[in-house]
Amino acid sequence: MRCPKCGTTDDKVIETRVSREGDAIRRRRLCLNCNFRFTTYETVIPADICVVKRDGRREEFQPNKLRDGIRMACWKRSIDEATIDSVVADITTRLSLMPQGEVESQYIGELAMKLLKKIDEVAYVRFASVYRHFQDADAFIDEVQSMQAENEATEPESGHPKEEPASKAGQNGKTA
Ligand SMILES: [Zn+2]
Repeated sequence: MRCPKCGTTDDKVIETRVSREGDAIRRRRLCLNCNFRFTTYETVIPADICVVKRDGRREEFQPNKLRDGIRMACWKRSIDEATIDSVVADITTRLSLMPQGEVESQYIGELAMKLLKKIDEVAYVRFASVYRHFQDADAFIDEVQSMQAENEATEPESGHPKEEPASKAGQNGKTA
């Protein structure tokens, strides 16, 4: 593996870790030229999985594209990379079991939404907004409105003015 720092391909694996589900391997590597340490990530590429888009076009399934979408949905939420990786690995595993070798893009979206809903409601709604936008805008608005209603019920009220100069002046008047 080429060292990202010096470009040499001479390296030594110093640690190998298999994910809990056994579907991903992380290798910690040491560059033998400059001693830089870096990590590589290894997963199974689902061969011949073809994604059928809503307009009928077909493209190869790209786990990295799915990971980017999920990562964007998880922006500024307390969700670590390992959790995002496990969602992508879970979906990839399910797709690789598809007997036809073909899957509708909607199915991938629904699957991701189902998994995200269990992890983080905000990330779920963000992801849903992307996947449901063109298909069912009303469903998304309903979703956001129900989330907002929940948030309003739990958040404390704010915005009351604290300073009341008139009453302060009155208190000062008493002591004088
Ligand atoms: Zn190096």
